[in-house]
Amino acid sequence: MIGTMEQSTEDPLGALSSVLDEIRSAHARSRSEIVARTGLSRGTVAQRVNELRAIGLVVENQVGPSTGGRPPRQISFRSDAGHVLVADLGATSIDVAVTDLDGRILGHRDEPADIATGPEQCLLRVDELFAELTSATRDLPGRLWGIGIGVPGPVEFRSGHPVSPPIMPGWDGYPIRERFVARHAAPVWVDNDVNLLALGEWRSGIAIGHDNVVVVKIGTGIGAGIISNGRIHRGAQGAAGDVGHIQVAEGSVACRCGNVGCLEALAGGSALARDGELAAVEGRSERLRMKLDQHGTVTAEDVARAASCGDPVAVALLTDAGHRVGRTLASVVNFFNPSLIVIGGGVAQSGDQLLASIRETVYRRSLPLATRDLLVQRSSLGALAGVIGASSMVTEQLFSREAMARWLRVGGPR
Ligand SMILES: [Zn+2]
Repeated sequence: MIGTMEQSTEDPLGALSSVLDEIRSAHARSRSEIVARTGLSRGTVAQRVNELRAIGLVVENQVGPSTGGRPPRQISFRSDAGHVLVADLGATSIDVAVTDLDGRILGHRDEPADIATGPEQCLLRVDELFAELTSATRDLPGRLWGIGIGVPGPVEFRSGHPVSPPIMPGWDGYPIRERFVARHAAPVWVDNDVNLLALGEWRSGIAIGHDNVVVVKIGTGIGAGIISNGRIHRGAQGAAGDVGHIQVAEGSVACRCGNVGCLEALAGGSALARDGELAAVEGRSERLRMKLDQHGTVTAEDVARAASCGDPVAVALLTDAGHRVGRTLASVVNFFNPSLIVIGGGVAQSGDQLLASIRETVYRRSLPLATRDLLVQRSSLGALAGVIGASSMVTEQLFSREAMARWLRVGGPR
């Protein structure tokens, strides 16, 4: 098969990958649509489709709408050719899932966990949950094609190693990929939670059809994932999108990264919780005071819900946080010109105030040309965004030109 591909004058693997991408994303449903969308010749498209059929990744059915002549054969992706195992590790939770090759969740488990207990304990639990899911899910399609792991900190994507993650003691440089490769006969990719959110929204969520997107996660901290020209942009080392540590204020508010005045130290979930708790202690908010009395603490989600109920202190905290995030994003908009900004993470999901304030500031502070068609919307994937995104990451990688070059030689990913 490789031999015939190498006879083409075009880049055969590149063509194979882009033909598959058109079919996988359902942008094209027939050979002629693939020709129109990719600019490849009819002969090349026919050859690549035949190869994909031989691998078992696409099927052609005689069901396309007739336009008078012979009805076109409809091509579709075989998402049941294999399955993918994914884990999304949060600061305080583990989410694992098994999906098909389209990111459809076939089985799912989640439970509380503390990332600070270190990699050995956390990843051992991931393995136990993988085993449980694999045996509990009936009719698991095909064999295991890949594993995707998300972590709440910076990752050098090429190696799959976390790099100085501030809330993950013991994880710096830990060989997550090697650990899973040693136990499973499948390729493994590791990325930070924000890139996974971006990939999930882009493949299966609100960002479908947008080629230039910024996905911002406002959880405990703040980070952004970037889709640029229809690809995730990780930067030279995997550090792109770390907007939470852009300095937005002089002064003395210390950030967990070691600097002062970072965006997330002033407007992230920890900051909202800190300021909300202070308001409760000082008796400035009756509603937050009640939360403090009930649970002994105030969370960022409490502040967001109090704001939804009209609590003036909570509204002011979220408006202020939204303005700070919005001003930073206005600079990002002027620099990068996305067509969509997606706001996700626990705080953004808990009420409308923050999103409204971010949106207003972005439109007011960005250049008119950059905001003419700009949308600012809430994340659409909810609590499953992490695992859906991790599955998208695995299939993006599996079906990339580079990875296919490797696994086609041995007949399948392993
Ligand atoms: Zn910082």
